[in-house]
Amino acid sequence: MCWRLCGRLVSLVVLVITGYGVCCQLECFSQDKILSQKLLCQKACKLIKPIESFFDVKSDTVGVIKVVSDSDYFLKVKAPTWSNAFFVNGVIFLPVSSVKSKTFERALKHELTHLVIYKNFGPRIPEWLEEGLALYLEGEPNDILKNFFNDWRLSKNRLSLFQITRGISSLPKKDAVQAYAVSYYAVKLMLDQGRKTDILRALQEGLLPSQTTEQIERALLKF
Ligand SMILES: [Zn+2]
Repeated sequence: MCWRLCGRLVSLVVLVITGYGVCCQLECFSQDKILSQKLLCQKACKLIKPIESFFDVKSDTVGVIKVVSDSDYFLKVKAPTWSNAFFVNGVIFLPVSSVKSKTFERALKHELTHLVIYKNFGPRIPEWLEEGLALYLEGEPNDILKNFFNDWRLSKNRLSLFQITRGISSLPKKDAVQAYAVSYYAVKLMLDQGRKTDILRALQEGLLPSQTTEQIERALLKF
């Protein structure tokens, strides 16, 4: 009995000394040699604040962020082979290779948006709306998305917004990027039209009326 209690006390002391990664209700774990748990949490804590204020939610999103080895990321987490970050059941997974990439902050902001939506509005949001918001809140628009969006507009067999309500991560890479591009521009269109209230209502209700979805898709073809 005693050694268990003593063991717990020792771990508590170790956690305090090493600066256990907890900040803003986020629990952080890192297998990266440079980005410690504490630094990861400090970064995430700073990046999550503007995302929470965009959605007008209180700054108490509870979540877990894990930086894992690339092999764990693809083999254990089973993240899509084309991804550089992955959100599943309230946990953000980032492979170590992503931490070293120039786009790390974008990837973290993207996944933090998923976390904020999941914790405050639940998992029923149309995927194009959620992905579009996550891409929008990454910051500067990504040029690659523009090319894929133009391809989508010119395509005769284009994916409809209804088709990207679920399952983007299981699409082949080319279709997935096109689905992300359409999602981004659909959200951008709504925000440019001053329809943030419609977005927030859709998040609360977990759906967007089909008439609105059709209307957005028609407007996208002229965007
Ligand atoms: Zn995403």
